[in-house]
Amino acid sequence: MIGLSDPFTIAGVDPSGLAAKLGLRPGERLLAINDVLLHDEIDFAAQSSEELLRVRVRAPNGTEREVEGRREYGIPFGAEFEARQPKRCHNNCVFCFVYQHPKGVRRELLIKDDDYVFSFEQGVLKPHERIYQIVEQRSGCREREILFLDDKAENVEAGAGRGWQTICHTSPEKSIPLVRELIS
Ligand code: SF4
Repeated sequence: MIGLSDPFTIAGVDPSGLAAKLGLRPGERLLAINDVLLHDEIDFAAQSSEELLRVRVRAPNGTEREVEGRREYGIPFGAEFEARQPKRCHNNCVFCFVYQHPKGVRRELLIKDDDYVFSFEQGVLKPHERIYQIVEQRSGCREREILFLDDKAENVEAGAGRGWQTICHTSPEKSIPLVRELIS
């Protein structure tokens, strides 16, 4: 979802959050937390949940500074970030949906954007229905438009029960022909 070369630029600060307590200001760019460079939202979610935070930011004039603070239970980080460019997928799947579009579709439909739903971030694991709901909401797809591969039968059954197209993956040799068949 997020471009690697596109740091988090602060758009707004919640006065009751940690960012305000640390003195972070709109226009500054968040570069790293606890010396971990922030490449995407996952890095930010993981690092900003630490109890002790050392945050490196860059001001619009290019100067950098570090601020430190302690996260208190129930207090959010409290910063909004400017919209960022979608991270592009660099895979080249033969069944990629982008390659299935007819000629002449609008450019946005040709973007292979990279998105993900991580169970550790959502707090639920497959085959819990909540994580399937999240995928449906995030993708914006109808159930039959989702193609789901998983190597556990119970996870595949849960997807199939929602109307997803499913494949129980055991090997690429078996899965690839099935994928071709499903999208043909
Ligand atoms: S967008 Fe999805 S299907 Fe297309 S190449 Fe990337 S991972 Fe494969």
